[in-house]
Amino acid sequence: MITRNKISNVKTERVDITIIADKFSPNTCSDGSGGFWEPFLLPEDSLAQSNKWCKDTWDYLMSLVKSPTAAALGVHTVSGYNFTGVNIPKRWSVYTTMMINVKKYLPWLMRQFRIKNGKVINRKINSLEEVMADYDLVVNCTGIGAYDLGDSSVYPAQRSSSNTGGTSQRGNWSTDVTVSDRKRILDGCSRLIPSLQEAEVLEEWTGLRPSRPTIRLEKEDVCFNGRTVTIIHNYGHAGSGITLFWGCAKVATDFAMESYRLNQQSKL
Ligand SMILES: Cc1cc2nc3c(=O)[nH]c(=O)nc-3n(C[C@H](O)[C@H](O)[C@H](O)COP(=O)(O)OP(=O)(O)OC[C@H]3O[C@@H](n4cnc5c(N)ncnc54)[C@H](O)[C@@H]3O)c2cc1C
Repeated sequence: MITRNKISNVKTERVDITIIADKFSPNTCSDGSGGFWEPFLLPEDSLAQSNKWCKDTWDYLMSLVKSPTAAALGVHTVSGYNFTGVNIPKRWSVYTTMMINVKKYLPWLMRQFRIKNGKVINRKINSLEEVMADYDLVVNCTGIGAYDLGDSSVYPAQRSSSNTGGTSQRGNWSTDVTVSDRKRILDGCSRLIPSLQEAEVLEEWTGLRPSRPTIRLEKEDVCFNGRTVTIIHNYGHAGSGITLFWGCAKVATDFAMESYRLNQQSKL
């Protein structure tokens, strides 16, 4: 979504942009994210690159915190403890970071896109070739869905989440809320804050963090029906999609603009 909004900001008068997705807010993985700026489960191999994308996103979020739209988008700084461990906390940290309310931010992004006359299609894609016939440039931001589009290196680092805690289970594709996960999260939190034992559960959710040995952020030129179609891949952000989305979208937008310029030149 961010990639498409950034592209539409740059060349809105000459480029027609369509978002195609089988799920929209509030039903995507991004909607269930905690919304914290917190690098988590990032591939070790590309840490130098991801540090840069995280930093760019931090700067962007900080600019939102200081903007008049901060309250409307639910962006703010937050301080707290972070405990990890299965039965007893094995590691803990206390820090201040930034948080964005994705349930406010994602609909806001969609409104911005529609204001710029962006087109939206609700449809499941079964292969990238399906869309290559109709577009010069395809931006593939399919998250965990990239697996079904042929990238078998994508796997889920699942999943459960509540305001009290969550789990991370590599390779588990199930999106069911299990009794054992619910119990583990509640028991763990109640040990630290006993009053939570009596708390009413308002919402439970599971999502599949789209993981991969490395984040896929690259441009690919494909020959399709006698013409070149550019595909920009931007997925595999694992447990850090909110932490580095802006930095990744900047790179993807640069790829798109380079492709656009080359396309224009070839038509002269
Ligand atoms: C429990 C949990 C908590 C998290 N908390 C945080 C956090 O605090 N901070 C953080 O930085 N990250 C967090 N994350 C990670 C973050 O949510 C993800 O990295 C991010 O949402 C991935 O975004 P995405 O746009 O790539 O994927 P998605 O949000 O899944 O979007 C993919 C889009 O592509 C569409 N699509 C996919 N395949 C197809 C297809 N074949 N045809 C048509 N459309 C398709 C989908 O419908 C969807 O619209 C959390 C994740 C989970 C599960």
